[in-house]
Amino acid sequence: MDPLAETLFLDIETNGDRLLDIGALLGAGELHDRALNKLTPLIARANYVCGHNIVAHDAPFLAKKAGTTLFEGKSLVDTLYWSALLFPEKPYHHLVKGYKLHDEDAPNDPLSDARLCKRLLQELIGAFHALDAPLRSIYHGLLHRRPGYGGFFALAGGQYTAAGDLAAVIHAYFGDRICRSADLSHLITGRPVELAHALALVSTSAASILQAWVVKQLPWTDEVLRLLRFATCKDPGCGYCSNRLDPKRALREIFGYGDFRRFDGEDGMGVQEQAVRHALGK
Ligand SMILES: [Zn+2]
Repeated sequence: MDPLAETLFLDIETNGDRLLDIGALLGAGELHDRALNKLTPLIARANYVCGHNIVAHDAPFLAKKAGTTLFEGKSLVDTLYWSALLFPEKPYHHLVKGYKLHDEDAPNDPLSDARLCKRLLQELIGAFHALDAPLRSIYHGLLHRRPGYGGFFALAGGQYTAAGDLAAVIHAYFGDRICRSADLSHLITGRPVELAHALALVSTSAASILQAWVVKQLPWTDEVLRLLRFATCKDPGCGYCSNRLDPKRALREIFGYGDFRRFDGEDGMGVQEQAVRHALGK
């Protein structure tokens, strides 16, 4: 069976502690009601429950009202998490206002937002399939057990398990785009979600800073990025660090000069270049 047909798309409107309205889609069925007991049988029938910011907001809110077993055995898929990962260059995706999904032209309606969520998921699946195969495996390795991320792989269809050690797969795929001395095994175990978002940024040339949502919700991502790109290792075989700290390259790229200035009577490396290399620790 198509896993999308077993996916409940869900959006709720709340006001503080009050549940104001529910919108949900499951297969061809639709729900627009404020009664929670209309929603619970739909959740019971679904294998996947997909929503925007569902892990941090909708699911805990509903579990508080209907009991902690409400989502037991269900795989939560959060389109907010996957938007941040797959559209690192689009911090404000056109469907997304803040942490909620809204159709700009429609009045606040959780059913139309649940439909938008389904469309966004389909768009995310398309973006995921457009990634290089090793990157899909890397995300699978880091995220398949994480709430909000894991169920997505089944919805996307296909097999994404990486062949071999994940740290080696990441180094092979990213090559000189990250420091080769970075202790990936440590990050894979301790900060897999942050590592995935840091690698998402490295993988795109269209963005150079982490988006606001990632900075706020996953503050360790910045530290992970620093370990990948600003640790300045001394390994002469590290293409990333030697390129980044190559003084002649910096001179060319930043100041537009082909070489350091040589003063009268200087042979070999001039004092200017020596001073810069000394400052860089080279
Ligand atoms: Zn390095």
